[in-house]
Amino acid sequence: MFEHKAQFLKRKELKRVQLSKLRRIVSYAYQNVPLFKKRFNEAGVKPGSIRTLDDIEKIPFTVKNDLRDNYPLGVLAVPQTRLYCLHASSGTTGKPIIMAYTRGDLERWSKLMGRSFDVAGVRRGDVVQNMFGYGLFTGGLGFHYGARAVGATIVPTGTGNTKRQLMLMKDLRSRVAASTPSYMIYLCEASRIEGYEPKVDFAVKVGIFGAEPWSEQTRKRIEDVFGLRAHDIYGMSELYGPGVAIECEQRNGLHVWGDEFLVETINPDTGDVLEPGKEGELVFTMLSREAMPLLRYRTRDLSRVFEEECACGRYHPRIQRIKGRSDDMLIIGGVNVFPSQVEHVLMNIPTLGDQYQIIVSHAELDRLAVKVETTPERVNDPNLLKQIQSDLLAVLGIRADVQLVELGTLPRTEVGKARRVIDLRTKE
Ligand SMILES: [Zn+2]
Repeated sequence: MFEHKAQFLKRKELKRVQLSKLRRIVSYAYQNVPLFKKRFNEAGVKPGSIRTLDDIEKIPFTVKNDLRDNYPLGVLAVPQTRLYCLHASSGTTGKPIIMAYTRGDLERWSKLMGRSFDVAGVRRGDVVQNMFGYGLFTGGLGFHYGARAVGATIVPTGTGNTKRQLMLMKDLRSRVAASTPSYMIYLCEASRIEGYEPKVDFAVKVGIFGAEPWSEQTRKRIEDVFGLRAHDIYGMSELYGPGVAIECEQRNGLHVWGDEFLVETINPDTGDVLEPGKEGELVFTMLSREAMPLLRYRTRDLSRVFEEECACGRYHPRIQRIKGRSDDMLIIGGVNVFPSQVEHVLMNIPTLGDQYQIIVSHAELDRLAVKVETTPERVNDPNLLKQIQSDLLAVLGIRADVQLVELGTLPRTEVGKARRVIDLRTKE
């Protein structure tokens, strides 16, 4: 087992490690990053005010704009000559956020990813097909470092090039597949089109999927087609990258590596800290990052935190699978709609394909339209149409115009994350 001792820290020991690391990182950040010193001073807090884990509530939040406003390297805690690597966020507009890593940061990140691979059942010598994008995005290299840490054999195929992807998956007997869930869903269909019988031709037994929210129904589809066991992994570029949290064999929430991250949930409107088990915005404090410490970073991801021991024997706190990023939430005619809720409904109807599109428009009122693929025989089936409409209404609380289209009509995700939502409303 990889880092067995750290994986199975008892509660008391975990809390002791957390407190000592928290106190150290708070004074380190205060002394070395002007942004934190300024925020602490404004709030009237000194590093010495942090004496217990509960004192974390005294620390001001950090938000994405703090990093953006300090573009490119205004929040460094070390001289630039100590940096080993830089990554950047995938923002579509404006300046990205630059993430910086010292050698120690890269080693810590690799170990967290190594642990996450270990938890998912990846072993030395396993062939890992890494279908995450390499480059500025942290997905590709994060998985690469993790596979290397556990001694697996990495096939760094990256995104796209689906025909070659499938050929290598078969010929190299890949045992582990890592990708976005939307790309794996795409492979379910593409492998059949290319003439493969996935369960027979491929040897993939472990899937590690992340970088976007996905539903239990999507998990089931992927598992049924490939005959693998799928684990959800969580992370974000600001927090090293992937490997912040992963599902153990219980798959009852994702374990956050508590000796490296403190996790809280807050009310996104008031900033109040919530009790464990209550849904709110996830907030992370990185306990050992050297290049770019982050204290109480607001993720905009909505989830719950569970502190109880897991049946797997680990005490690292668990977060519920992410329902959506508060940024992804659509407000349609005053109703909150998460794209993952639409996916949940569609994936529950067996006669539908895996591809769908959500289109929001405005003509006097907000309108929600959903396009989804089905077989040519079903495309004009009024009962199917009615069923989707009533299921969507039941889950979302608003009416959707549903359009059935033939399999293969909607655009596919060959690279990176899926773009399933088209919002045509003009933003004020
Ligand atoms: Zn567990």
